[in-house]
Amino acid sequence: MSLLTGIVERVPAAYYSDERQAILETAREFAMREVLPVANRLDPVQGEIPMELRQKMAELGYFGILIPQEYGGLGLGIFEYVLVTEELARAWMSVASIIARGNGIGDGFSEDKRREMLPRMARGEWLGAFALSEPGAGSDVASIRCRAELAGDEWVVNGQKMWCTFADGADFIILVARATPYDPENRHAGIAQFLIEKERGKFPPGIEGTAMRKIGYHGWKTWELSFDNFRIPKENILIHSARSGSSEGFKRTAMGLSVARIHTAARSVGLARGALEDSVAYAQTRVQFGRPIGDFQAIRFKLACMATEIEAARALTYAAADDFDRGRRADVQASMAKLFASEMTEKVTSEGIQIHGGAGYTSEYPLERYWRDARLTRIFEGTSEIQQRIISDAFLPRPKG
Ligand SMILES: Cc1cc2nc3c(=O)[nH]c(=O)nc-3n(C[C@H](O)[C@H](O)[C@H](O)COP(=O)(O)OP(=O)(O)OC[C@H]3O[C@@H](n4cnc5c(N)ncnc54)[C@H](O)[C@@H]3O)c2cc1C
Repeated sequence: MSLLTGIVERVPAAYYSDERQAILETAREFAMREVLPVANRLDPVQGEIPMELRQKMAELGYFGILIPQEYGGLGLGIFEYVLVTEELARAWMSVASIIARGNGIGDGFSEDKRREMLPRMARGEWLGAFALSEPGAGSDVASIRCRAELAGDEWVVNGQKMWCTFADGADFIILVARATPYDPENRHAGIAQFLIEKERGKFPPGIEGTAMRKIGYHGWKTWELSFDNFRIPKENILIHSARSGSSEGFKRTAMGLSVARIHTAARSVGLARGALEDSVAYAQTRVQFGRPIGDFQAIRFKLACMATEIEAARALTYAAADDFDRGRRADVQASMAKLFASEMTEKVTSEGIQIHGGAGYTSEYPLERYWRDARLTRIFEGTSEIQQRIISDAFLPRPKG
């Protein structure tokens, strides 16, 4: 239960509907009852998100929030996706992240594939991983080198991918690779997405995975992948313009990142809220100098600033989500929400540790998890610097080169 009744418990009037309020309350109750205890138990031992928990999330429809009803999803908007994401992230960011492995992934599927697979995705039975980043291509997506070459009825893939979260547990991987040779004069051309169907828990022959050691975002593994003459059926190319030399594949990939950024902003808000709620509780029970530390103005004002920054980040996130739902492309707003919320969450979770004193620096309290996970939000789905670049490009001429 939130300690902040009146500040965060109601969907703001501008976006309010009874349905949204019910979605928020259900997600909050679920996250606190079902997710938080699991996170507190499994994060310290780097355990995986249990199937049983995934099943409960599937029953609530969380893997299919954005999937149209005709394909078995809830057919809701990004706003509702954000409401659920914030609540799940308040308990465990990895659980808020795994819902993105159903919702919206696989944008380029054929109609047959949509009919076959989206209902399974909505039920959480068919979840994906996304392989975009490479050892030499992180922020600079247009520099990817992983290559898919058409040989008869198959694409033959060779190259490296980095940071592919959930590659092992996924039922499919969306691979971003070049369908035409790298051209330094036209770097954005020829980038395509491919569907790799695989058995859950394994890598197929031709793909070797090495788990990466990371400081947080536990609950699932993140992988470096090596493709060695790995074969994909010809029809599994998802973005067909690749052969024409156009940059459609790059554009579609970049567009997908805007929704991921709004999702990340919501994850950031959820993490920060965890830090705030726990800190409010701690400030009332921890006694120093004969009184609860929450009596000290230094602590009260920290909490006030934390709450205010969370509200500001949430407002940006809601506004960007609402714009997308109304069919207005709001890529810059998505970047602003992601930038502000992720910078905010690192600060707020760190303040949460400060309020907890030494206790905050132990794994007896979840503050250190919030902070480790919050740190990642400034890096993935485009770093803060890349968001700043996107935002400034909106009003300044782009520098040459
Ligand atoms: C735990 C984890 C999980 C991830 N999961 C996935 C996943 O599932 N799938 C996937 O494809 N990727 C994933 N990623 C990759 C992630 O998206 C990248 O790490 C991120 O895009 C940054 O790329 P990079 O690490 O190569 O950093 P780099 O691009 O090398 O950046 C290094 C530094 O240089 C700065 N920089 C770079 N270019 C510029 C510029 N033009 N202007 C100013 N500053 C610049 C960056 O902001 C950063 O500070 C994951 C990463 C992590 C850490």
